[in-house]
Amino acid sequence: MKIGRAICYSCGRKVEFPLEELLCRALGGWLAVCHLKGLQSVDHYNFCSFGCLQRWVDTQVPKIPEVFLKSLERKNDKYING
Ligand SMILES: [Zn+2]
Repeated sequence: MKIGRAICYSCGRKVEFPLEELLCRALGGWLAVCHLKGLQSVDHYNFCSFGCLQRWVDTQVPKIPEVFLKSLERKNDKYING
């Protein structure tokens, strides 16, 4: 019997399943993401939960530096208070 494996890209949780088993049954509740990067260039990622997917997404999105946001607050105070 051949065994398939899936690993959560975020937390590293592993699942093994017989290859004869339907993937949607073996990985019920998991999320699969395809990142289409260009011609013949696709990355596949598996996640065991929405929380793991969210953590991974958060690492992919560029963050606005806190210093920049604080400088906007100061400017807004200036406009409101004169
Ligand atoms: Zn996970």
